[in-house]
Amino acid sequence: MPTPNDELERLRQLHELQILDTPREPAFDRLTALAAELLDVPIALISLVDAERQWFKSAVGLDARQTSRDVSLCNHTVASRRPLLIEDTHTDPRFAGNPLVTAAPYIRFYAGIPLMPDGHHVLGTLCVIDRRPRQLSASQLRQLEALAGQVEELLKLHHHRLLFDHESLRSQKRAARYEAIVRGAAAGIVRIDSQGRILEINDFALRLLGYQRDELLGANVSRLMPMRWAVDHDQYLRNYHTSGEAHIIGKGRRVEALHRDGHAIPVHLAVSRVQYDDASEDCDFIGILSDLSEVQTANHLLERQQQLLGVLHRGLTDYQALMSGNRLWSFLKQALRELTRSDYALIGEVLAVDDQPALKIHAITDLSWDDASRQLMEQFKEGRMLLSNPNSLLGRVFADGQTVLRNDMQAHSPHSAFPPGHPPLSNFLGVPILDQGQVIGMFAIANGAQPYSTELVEWLEPFISTCALLIKLYRQLNERESFTEQLRQARDQAENASRAKSEFLSSMSHELRTPLNAILGFAQLLQSSQKHPLGERQQRQVEQIYKSGQHLLTLINEVLDLARIEAGQINLSIERIHLGDVLEDACTTLMPIARQYGITLQPPQGAHFACWLQADYTRLKQVLINLITNAIKYNRPQGNVQLDCQRLAGCVRVSVRDTGIGIPADRLDQLFQPFNRLGAESGSIEGTGVGLALTRKILELMDGRIGVRSEEGVGSEFWFELPHGEAPAAGSGEVARGRGETPAEPTGESDAPALRVLYIEDNPANQRLLQELFEDLDGFALQCAHSAELGLELACSQPPQLILLDINLPGMDGYQAMRQLAQNPLTHAIPVIGLSASAMPDDLRKAEAAGFSAYLTKPLDIPRLLELLDQFTRQERA
Ligand code: ADP
Repeated sequence: MPTPNDELERLRQLHELQILDTPREPAFDRLTALAAELLDVPIALISLVDAERQWFKSAVGLDARQTSRDVSLCNHTVASRRPLLIEDTHTDPRFAGNPLVTAAPYIRFYAGIPLMPDGHHVLGTLCVIDRRPRQLSASQLRQLEALAGQVEELLKLHHHRLLFDHESLRSQKRAARYEAIVRGAAAGIVRIDSQGRILEINDFALRLLGYQRDELLGANVSRLMPMRWAVDHDQYLRNYHTSGEAHIIGKGRRVEALHRDGHAIPVHLAVSRVQYDDASEDCDFIGILSDLSEVQTANHLLERQQQLLGVLHRGLTDYQALMSGNRLWSFLKQALRELTRSDYALIGEVLAVDDQPALKIHAITDLSWDDASRQLMEQFKEGRMLLSNPNSLLGRVFADGQTVLRNDMQAHSPHSAFPPGHPPLSNFLGVPILDQGQVIGMFAIANGAQPYSTELVEWLEPFISTCALLIKLYRQLNERESFTEQLRQARDQAENASRAKSEFLSSMSHELRTPLNAILGFAQLLQSSQKHPLGERQQRQVEQIYKSGQHLLTLINEVLDLARIEAGQINLSIERIHLGDVLEDACTTLMPIARQYGITLQPPQGAHFACWLQADYTRLKQVLINLITNAIKYNRPQGNVQLDCQRLAGCVRVSVRDTGIGIPADRLDQLFQPFNRLGAESGSIEGTGVGLALTRKILELMDGRIGVRSEEGVGSEFWFELPHGEAPAAGSGEVARGRGETPAEPTGESDAPALRVLYIEDNPANQRLLQELFEDLDGFALQCAHSAELGLELACSQPPQLILLDINLPGMDGYQAMRQLAQNPLTHAIPVIGLSASAMPDDLRKAEAAGFSAYLTKPLDIPRLLELLDQFTRQERA
């Protein structure tokens, strides 16, 4: 069986044509009939050669629809791709034995024209057959070929129809799919024409907007918008057509759609323009609506959640400010109203009154309606009103600890439940605030925008816990405040009492000193009278009067000092002090007494005493004299007193050790109590019992402290600590040793007589500083005095040309000395420069008023002093 070269491709083409085994078609039949008639043959066929068979699309004169391919004559035409003409099969060896020749249909003549609908592949033939030998004229062959051409056209048409059917099926499917998408979309889809008329709307949009389809088709889309947008919509569409200006087309936006029943629905709307034909301006618009109701609800929930968090955060982090300004309650009330969107809110604390719970309202929304209710509100707001009825709406909450929730207030509480004029309450929620199962407060809200629910109460749980926490804090702070207030009152009372005592002591001491001066004065006169000398017995008696008077004077002076310290009336001049100086000074003063008692007092020796501290010179000397005097007084015969010092971090510790009677351990705590002599009052040692109390006060005023170690029968060690002072820079002169009061040698070689300067100063370190300074100056002679009294004496006996006067001096102070200088004709013209450690504006004003020529503060500004000296020299010499 011959096979064409392109067999595979040919068969593929044939099968693609999908014509095999299709029913007969008149168009094909007409052509076979025409062929049979034109060529006058009994059989005409349109044969399509399949892989194993030839199948007849049309057959005239033959009943069979197909025959096997291996006996097919057409197969030869197909294989040769050319027309095949067999005038007599019996004479052609290729076909003489063919069963179609030897048996029915007894083919003797065959003419077949190949069918090539695509111009390349031969799919079959148009053939004519006769049962007798024949010849075909050239014109008959052309006719047959023309008919075959028509068959090819029919086959092409069949192919095109097939393609078309296929395509239309696909587009049907596409349309169905589109339809399904539009219908089933989980978004609203609306198609409108250029005039805004609704052409199509899907089920989702209908459901969302509450319409039936036929209500909307053809209607203007503006019907689906809230009025404020609907009125402009047509104009907007017109603008878009003319100017292309788009607000929403091509973009997505959050808008509101209007439901059929009139409520607005939040939606996201994306509109796109659909143009079906490039040439035409005509277009539709498709809008896709997504329902944002849930998103909006979620957003609202989030907002409320954030609001709640905000309240909790503020309540917990800012509680101090809330408490201190007493804004806690109004803050909680306001937070409640905002969190629950309620018109009214109240919050209060539950107190126990006569063992019964009572509500103290701390903050309440004003719902007054007349004067009487306004007054009531004021009382509530100020917390003056307590509610105690356990059967009221609020009572159920604060007394029973119940949560009361009513969304139908009108039904539950007839009008008579509220006084006439009371604003109507639609809903109500009262919640107890618990702490460990106990009701400590409550809040109530009314007229909420939404009905109240148990979910709301659950949602408010963190708020309620925060309220409980804040109320507890509020109570604790209040308790603490009232406790502090009690303490303050007690302290004030104590202070007043102490002040009164100080004032009393002070005035009493003054009153006592005047007659005492007379007693002492006259006792001395009696003792030393030459004219009327006293007898021995009288001498002893006057001696006794004098001694007792002296004792009384010491006592009065100490009491006065203590009273002044307690009343804060003491001025200190804290400056740098050389410890060695002050110890030496104190020892020199006490040496005679030590000798009198037979006690060895060792003056300070060794480099470790050469240290500096910050203190008031005179007061420090007073402290040392008190301690050393005690160490001498309470010593044993031939005992000794040792001084020591030690540098500690930031301070210097000075100790006075004796070998005396010691102090019983159980009395040590009474040691610094004024007038407490620990039993010494019954012995022979004189004393007042004020010295140590005074010592401690003075040390404390100088930022120091005092302590004691003692062993009965062995001795005591009193120590005190004072802040460490900066050592002066080497070479400044202050480190040099030696006390002043001696006139300095006039310095300089100048012929002019030296100008005499008197320096009244108790601190030897300061004296030395100026001595050093003046040594370097030409034309000055410096003289130092360590007290105002001595200074005044020197000023009168050898009037200087200039006085440098320290303000804080032992005994008479600088101001008193200044007054005396001004009043004395011998000294009133001498210029005086004031020196003091105090540089407060008040001190400066006071110095100016006192009449000082100039006022310098310590530590001394040396250049400024030199400048003043220079000015003074020029004035003197002028
Ligand atoms: P007084 O004027 O009595 O000495 P003080 O206030 O100085 O008053 O001292 C109070 C009391 O402390 C003294 O009366 C004495 O009993 C006791 N006391 C003070 N210093 C010493 C000491 N160094 N040794 C033993 N007892 C002392």
